[in-house]
Amino acid sequence: MSRVIIIGCGGVAKVAIHKCCQNDDIFTDLCIASRTLSKCDEVKKELEGKTKTNITTKKINANNINELMDLFNEFKPEIVMNLGMPYQNLIIMDACLEYGCHYLDTAAYEPEDVNEPTWRKRYEERVKEKNFTAYFDYSYQWEYNDKFAKKGLIALLGCGFDPGVTQAYVAYAKKHEFDRIDTLDILDCNGGDHGYPFATNFNPEINLREVSSDGAYYENGKWIKVPAMSIKKEYNFDGVGMKDMYLLHHEEIESIAKNYPEIKRIKFYMTFGESYLRHMNCFENVGLLSTKAIDYNGQKIVPIQFLKALLPDPSTLGPRTKGKTNIGCIFRGIKDGKEKTYYIYNMCDHQESYHEVGSQAVSYTTGVPAMCGAMLILKKIWTTPGAKTVEEYDPDPFIEALDKYGLPKTESYNPMMVD
Ligand code: NDP
Repeated sequence: MSRVIIIGCGGVAKVAIHKCCQNDDIFTDLCIASRTLSKCDEVKKELEGKTKTNITTKKINANNINELMDLFNEFKPEIVMNLGMPYQNLIIMDACLEYGCHYLDTAAYEPEDVNEPTWRKRYEERVKEKNFTAYFDYSYQWEYNDKFAKKGLIALLGCGFDPGVTQAYVAYAKKHEFDRIDTLDILDCNGGDHGYPFATNFNPEINLREVSSDGAYYENGKWIKVPAMSIKKEYNFDGVGMKDMYLLHHEEIESIAKNYPEIKRIKFYMTFGESYLRHMNCFENVGLLSTKAIDYNGQKIVPIQFLKALLPDPSTLGPRTKGKTNIGCIFRGIKDGKEKTYYIYNMCDHQESYHEVGSQAVSYTTGVPAMCGAMLILKKIWTTPGAKTVEEYDPDPFIEALDKYGLPKTESYNPMMVD
């Protein structure tokens, strides 16, 4: 018996809702709360007669703490899964603390308006100190660690695939495969084709902000910044084939570097096709990625939000996306005095995901881990309170749950290395 609120009803949330409903012995009462009520009602209708989970829906603006508190007091959740936007992470964490329930999200906090002066000042200081320019960083959410710990509550940060499963893979490799890990390459390949000249496979605002930032990696205790898309490699991905991939900064590098200081070098690569990069450069050059509102005929318009309105909604890509994703971690390190390499990854098929839950694999690979993380908290298998990332918990039950609920691991002891 559990009471769970899911905030947001986009691509990722829909998968998590379907998965919670497949697991209806644990997720008995679910409230879907999002900005557009009709989307919540549609998902509820899709699941009618297919689950024992009792689903309710609610319209909510997650920017409004009073609306959040009213909902929490009325529904009485044990955990709130924030599967909306990272802009609302802090306010939802505040509401969870005030009400007294666990919290989970899939992306690190970043502000909607990156020109807000107080945030900007702290950002500029961080850029100087840490040498990465991405708008997201964990410091804001780590500041909640003691507050959650004092109340015996968990705030599970970044429990999607990357961040999320990739960190569990690190904890798993350290627990079972290595005495010491020296290098880590995280590889995120989407070999799917949706047939559009340009579309992002998760929220366009967050996706474009992430990939247009400078890249950064971590080496010998320092951040090395590189211009966006300036480091390109080719890799032959199982189930996909040869793809170009580019070095990006990604949020799990920050938490893995903190929690596994023995790892001397951590890099993250993501695959992109020529067409994606050409479009992205063009949007950037004409100012369409800007978060600063402009006046247009007396109306305030935020360029990146306008662009989002023009692009295909990622949650509608399911029927047309074909191919596979392949996401995982390649390690080099030492076991029993000998050097060793190890690769652990998952392959997920877009069409199989679509036929199971009505969504493409990028939403699937994020929504399934979110459900698994919430399940481990509800079953009191993961119990350490505080604001923590996935690698801080025992990886075994999580990886077991992923195997069971649709994201099985594949392992290789002789992988092609990136460098
Ligand atoms: P979508 O844009 O498809 O969904 C976002 C949902 O949040 C929409 O339903 C939207 O409402 C709702 N929402 C937005 N603002 C508010 C608000 N103020 N109050 C209430 N609801 C709101 O995004 P995705 O599903 O693609 O992504 C969800 C999250 O998952 C993002 O944070 C993304 O960064 C993260 N992610 C993480 C990955 C990982 O591996 N860790 C991978 C992919 C994504 P409406 O329907 O009205 O627009």
